[in-house]
Amino acid sequence: MEIELNTIYEAQKIEMKIIEGETKLLQAPKKIQEMDAELNETKQKVEKQKEIIEELEKERNKKEKELETDKDKIKKLEAKLHEVKTNKEYQASLKEIEAAKSTNDRTEEDVLVLMDKAEDIRKDYNASLLHLKKREKEIEIEKNHIEKEIQSMDKIITELKTARNKLLSVVNNHLKSIYMVLVEKRSGLAVVNVKGGVCLGCFMNIPPQLYIEVTKNKELIQCPSCNRILYFTDTE
Ligand SMILES: [Zn+2]
Repeated sequence: MEIELNTIYEAQKIEMKIIEGETKLLQAPKKIQEMDAELNETKQKVEKQKEIIEELEKERNKKEKELETDKDKIKKLEAKLHEVKTNKEYQASLKEIEAAKSTNDRTEEDVLVLMDKAEDIRKDYNASLLHLKKREKEIEIEKNHIEKEIQSMDKIITELKTARNKLLSVVNNHLKSIYMVLVEKRSGLAVVNVKGGVCLGCFMNIPPQLYIEVTKNKELIQCPSCNRILYFTDTE
């Protein structure tokens, strides 16, 4: 019985590797999806920043054109100054020039503010773009890695299953059928070690007398709490 218990314990170890591999296979598409979502989000952010910069530049161009027009207007007003005949007209023209100049000053300030804003966002944009390029490369590598892993994992799982079945084939049918049922019911964990009087499957205490029997590995003993097959080894 000791050999059989040891054999089924080894089968259990392989079982866990199979489950680990199958979990990885299941998670792979989700991982790829998550990475795609991350890239999309970053792309959208970069796109948004680009749009804002373009908006600010459009606004600045508009203001710069206004400046040109206003400067022309001031020149014309100043030329007109020489043609006025009365002091009243002269004063009125001066006022008009002054008003145009102060409008011009405000527009110039606006242009500067718009330039500053665009500059700030451009810095963010450049950083985001750099980050995007970096992540695109990293994610491409990671995806290739996952694809390769999926391919080799299929093969590994097949090999593991063969190895597990080979071990199970030399175990008596009673033990084997208990194992199969427990694998199904206990998320793949049917055989567990015991340590310090505790079942390492459910972490409940095993009655002392029973624990002593378990450590002998002489007979099939199941955990009174979780029903798992108990096997004792102190080499792990
Ligand atoms: Zn247990």
